[in-house]
Amino acid sequence: MSNPIITVRDLVKNYGNFQAVKGISFEVKEGEIFGLLGPNGAGKSTTLEIIETLRPKTSGQVMVDGFDLDKQPGEIKKVIGVQLQTSGYYPGLNLLQLIELFCGLYNRRMDPMELLEMVNLKDKAKAKVKELSGGQKQRFSVATTLINQPRIIFLDEPTTGLDPQARRSLWELVRNIREKGTTVIITTHYMDEAEYLCDRVAIIDAGKIVALDTPDKLIDDLIARGFERPKEMKLANLEDVFINLTGHSLREG
Ligand code: ADP
Ligand code: MG
Repeated sequence: MSNPIITVRDLVKNYGNFQAVKGISFEVKEGEIFGLLGPNGAGKSTTLEIIETLRPKTSGQVMVDGFDLDKQPGEIKKVIGVQLQTSGYYPGLNLLQLIELFCGLYNRRMDPMELLEMVNLKDKAKAKVKELSGGQKQRFSVATTLINQPRIIFLDEPTTGLDPQARRSLWELVRNIREKGTTVIITTHYMDEAEYLCDRVAIIDAGKIVALDTPDKLIDDLIARGFERPKEMKLANLEDVFINLTGHSLREG
């Protein structure tokens, strides 16, 4: 868990004369869950899409699994898994057919039912994407990132809009994927999610990285700077109450 699998140096992205990414540098280590945290408009998706080869950068260097983005973007595409918007899937096909289609595109063999089992969607194999709940859609789109057996997957706000049970189910899925050795980069603006999932996080604000470390270290540093919570925290929060009363199990109809 120490070699960088992604190295980003002085990355800049201009949209016209607006600078969305202002010269950021970071490394992602092999096998970690790395979080890009920031408010809306911080530049998270732009950064991710540049690394994914989907968006041109203005300047800077990006290396992914030893390949230079400028020289070998095709090699990078082969080792990464990218989550598509669920609206982007062929509407007429069911989950099984979609996975088979992706296998064909990637020229990979895999058992679609095994993949659906991993994301807890076996009983929805014959369903179309539009018939899935929000959480099921997200789990399916995470499943599709795994079809080309990537070394790294990219998840851009995978839990936005999900209820607490579906969110926790997706967290477990992300952890399972990492357990199998896949490096995960995830963006989020939910700090509880980052604290639970991420080994290290970069906090990005207005196109700049303002902090980068483990969640634990960032919290300890803040306390060391004299920070105190305005009032004593209770030992549980409202989400704990909600989960305690309604359980972890998924409600997907
Ligand atoms: P985040 O994912 O953190 O919410 P984005 O990377 O989507 O942020 O956007 C960063 C900034 O760049 C925002 O101010 C956004 O409005 C702007 N932006 C994103 N895409 C484009 C684009 N295609 N053209 C112009 N500005 C864009
Ligand atoms: Mg975004």
